[in-house]
Amino acid sequence: MHHFAYRNGVLHCENVSLEAVARELGTPAYVYSDATLRRHYRVLADAFANRNTLIAFAVKANSNIGVLATLASEGAGADVVSGGEMLRALEAGIPASRIVFSGVAKTVEEMKLGLERGIHQFNVESMPELLRLSRVAEEMGKRVPIAFRVNPHVEAGGHAHISTGSAEHKFGIAWHEAETFFEEASRLPGIDPVGIAVHIGSQIMRVEPMRAAWEKVVALTRRLRDRGFAISRLDLGGGLGVPYKDGDDPDSPTIYARTAREALGDLDVQLIFEPGRLIAGNAGVLISKVEYIKERDGRTFVILDAGMNDLLRPALYNAHHDILPVRIPEMGATRSAVDLVGPICESTDRFAKDRPMPPLKEGDLVAFMTAGAYGATLSSQYNSRPLVAEALVRGDAWAIVRRRPTFDEMIALERAPDWITRG
Ligand SMILES: *Cc1c(COP(=O)(O)O)cnc(C)c1O
Repeated sequence: MHHFAYRNGVLHCENVSLEAVARELGTPAYVYSDATLRRHYRVLADAFANRNTLIAFAVKANSNIGVLATLASEGAGADVVSGGEMLRALEAGIPASRIVFSGVAKTVEEMKLGLERGIHQFNVESMPELLRLSRVAEEMGKRVPIAFRVNPHVEAGGHAHISTGSAEHKFGIAWHEAETFFEEASRLPGIDPVGIAVHIGSQIMRVEPMRAAWEKVVALTRRLRDRGFAISRLDLGGGLGVPYKDGDDPDSPTIYARTAREALGDLDVQLIFEPGRLIAGNAGVLISKVEYIKERDGRTFVILDAGMNDLLRPALYNAHHDILPVRIPEMGATRSAVDLVGPICESTDRFAKDRPMPPLKEGDLVAFMTAGAYGATLSSQYNSRPLVAEALVRGDAWAIVRRRPTFDEMIALERAPDWITRG
């Protein structure tokens, strides 16, 4: 469910024409829907309204301050994986008490930052991290609530590059070591071990592997409680998939929520979820302009002004995005197979191969659908292209939430060394 649709022949985000945004902001640009972001957050929040639940948006999916502030106004928390993401969440108005810090490589500085601000918890992934965090907390005279991210040895069934829950992955502590880790943690002065976390991957279409992982952590929680550890929080991760194309049919958030409730039974804990894609995925599109149509060797290349530096998912994971013309094609227009490519000097800078598309010509606009998650956050300035702009729509109104940098801004951090400039 999203708020992008054709009206009078032009693709709109809520009540705003994407042509109007492109005219003012230029292309390429991401456009997000306030109503879709809120709707997705509420579906989950409402499903757990009668339980103590923290829905911590995975900031790496979309870290734009405007998007985070929108979710903050709904009461969302944040799941962050760096000090930068933590500062973004705080800047956007998400209280520290709703921030969970995940990730395998937290630095001393990041630990200090989290402790200073008093975040909700750190999700710890290794013994050296645990020992470091305890030392940092002790030096600051604090005791820090932590959850152990366990690796449940469950295959999530998503794309191999975004699956995280089996033994070969770097994430989490070993399943059979969980008890030892809790024993060790409860002896450490700076640590308050309060929870268990699991996250088995991303773009997972069926809840069954998640149910398997959740049932394992529920059983583990009961075992640990029997041994006297006061486990008061369960972080069930993120990872539910979204439809990217016709025929994609992920289990709904309602099924997801019901499955979580079933797996938990009467276990009394604070529940934490870390959805990213589920909230932001189809709340955003990337709009781009056709620069050239190039015919060669029997192929048609539609060359766009968006490149893999603006939307990396196709090059990185061979991901599919539906690509729609912003202006609806004429009735009966025939589709022909084309390759949609970007301007970057890399062969992987190709968004789609042999994609049936209606007739397109120079200057036409297209929209990459379901680009709100892992789109702008993965963008770069490769080929010295300015970082892609972002806009947020709410009803009839829209705002630029990240403007395109100027050339001077792009090179402001760089300089030639003195031995050159001295002449
Ligand atoms: C990436 C990530 C998420 C979010 O995953 P989605 O598939 O976007 O829901 C949640 N938790 C952790 C620990 C992650 O690394």
